[in-house]
Amino acid sequence: MAAQTHLFKCLTDNYGVLIHDPATGATAAIDAPEAWAVDAALKETGWQLTDILVTHHHGDHTGGIEELKERHGCKVTAPRREKQPIPAVDATVAEGDTVKVGSLTAKVLDTPGHTIGHIAYVFPDDKIAFVGDTLFSIGCGRVIEGTHQAMWESLVKLRALPDDTKIFCGHEYTKANIRFALTIEPDNPALKARAEEADRQVAAGQPTIPVTIGEEKRANPFLRADVPVVATAVKMSGKPAAQVFGELRERKNRF
Ligand code: ZN
Ligand code: FE
Repeated sequence: MAAQTHLFKCLTDNYGVLIHDPATGATAAIDAPEAWAVDAALKETGWQLTDILVTHHHGDHTGGIEELKERHGCKVTAPRREKQPIPAVDATVAEGDTVKVGSLTAKVLDTPGHTIGHIAYVFPDDKIAFVGDTLFSIGCGRVIEGTHQAMWESLVKLRALPDDTKIFCGHEYTKANIRFALTIEPDNPALKARAEEADRQVAAGQPTIPVTIGEEKRANPFLRADVPVVATAVKMSGKPAAQVFGELRERKNRF
């Protein structure tokens, strides 16, 4: 049976999301920004929390873990290589590991850069990927603990997922990301189409995610650092993609 997802906003601009296995009733929260918002989502769906899958250690992704575990007795799975401790962890995972949510199976990818131990959870049968703060729609996370090289490799890894994979990310930053992306590729038709779509979605009070990896590949400059037109736009044609990526990231930090 196909997985079901439920997306909700929390904190200021975070997304929480539940993934539910109708066959067994198992439900995982991807990260736990705040307990009450996850509980409200559980109430709305009628699902029971069995798991929390943590992408990285930042407080806006882990703040609700202890309270939720106390209340639901759920199993907490977290990245093995995180620098900072994550509370109430039952199991740690890294690339090559799989995580079960009822009868659903997630593959773990190491996606370092935003944090050293950041991981993504990919459910290949359902073509859903939870990418935390590594990839955002038309953007990417700040490179806080890792190198530009590491972050670029993480993004390339996500880019290699099948085009119809649905991406759920940790934040609603799409409109601001588009404003920056248009300074790099003002004539990219896929980006212009995405800008119109995001305007419509935000005006209608809808989330701008999930989005497919295929759409992001065409429109997100951070996934396009190895495309000549993008390198040229930042006056780095012929330079290694990781360096072009680094320049894009620095420009976005200042934007
Ligand atoms: Zn973060
Ligand atoms: Fe975050």
